[in-house]
Amino acid sequence: MTKRLILLGTGVPTPNLQRGSASSALVKGDDITLVDCGHGAVHSLLKAGEDPIKVSRIFFTHHHFDHNVEFPYLLLTGWVMGRSKPIHVYGPRGTRAFVESVFKTFEIDISCRLDTGVQTRGGLDIRAQDIDEDFTFSGEWRVKCRRVDHLKQLGNYTLGYRFDSEDKSIVFSGDTRPCEAVAELAMGADVLVHECFFSPEFEETGVVQGRKKSHPKLPFIHSNPEDVGIIAKKAGVKKLILNHLWSERNLDDLEKRVRSRFAGEILIGHDGLTVSLQ
Ligand SMILES: [Zn+2]
Ligand SMILES: [Zn+2]
Repeated sequence: MTKRLILLGTGVPTPNLQRGSASSALVKGDDITLVDCGHGAVHSLLKAGEDPIKVSRIFFTHHHFDHNVEFPYLLLTGWVMGRSKPIHVYGPRGTRAFVESVFKTFEIDISCRLDTGVQTRGGLDIRAQDIDEDFTFSGEWRVKCRRVDHLKQLGNYTLGYRFDSEDKSIVFSGDTRPCEAVAELAMGADVLVHECFFSPEFEETGVVQGRKKSHPKLPFIHSNPEDVGIIAKKAGVKKLILNHLWSERNLDDLEKRVRSRFAGEILIGHDGLTVSLQ
């Protein structure tokens, strides 16, 4: 069965015409599993030649909007397109409430489309579940997760995920500071997709590209290039993909800084980047 990883969105919360926000797809035969569903995910699936109604599972790393904002669009376009199977949605605390809130927000459209009789309830079957580190799943992929070091105020938490098939393993760090849990989750993996904070603009001005000002209370909750290299080396992964990118400038420098700590293969993520998992 053919398997591939597609980076659908490799950007961050600030709008960027070259990058959507965080979303990746694992395609296995006729099935699509998403990790996060940031801005542009549906169009990126179409550009990659994939049918959005084949998405059967979505795993949210956390509920910063750059990771979930396109979920309503995926849900509603798939419904209109004729999705006939449920979507299972997993994520940290608040995932069920988030999904319920989407149905509430789009209540007028949903009830009016149902009222016409053109649309039926089929395709609106979304089964959402709040999960934590004790979660495991075995289906198209064997899935496990760990808490990582990112959004965690007010009882919230962020999850990194590992997906194993019979012969390949892919790990997503989620957004995180450098974190032992990611190294443990990624131990011996074929592919590690790791977020990476690299911004020449920030180094020069204290403000990242696309923002108007810095904020003195802004906590640093991401990973520097060297830290990402250290985690990849510790885990012994074969391929490291840098994701969640803040700038288009000096990407050669970004790679050099990661390379200073990690000798394996490094790819700099871009929207549409596809990695065969054969
Ligand atoms: Zn993010
Ligand atoms: Zn985040």
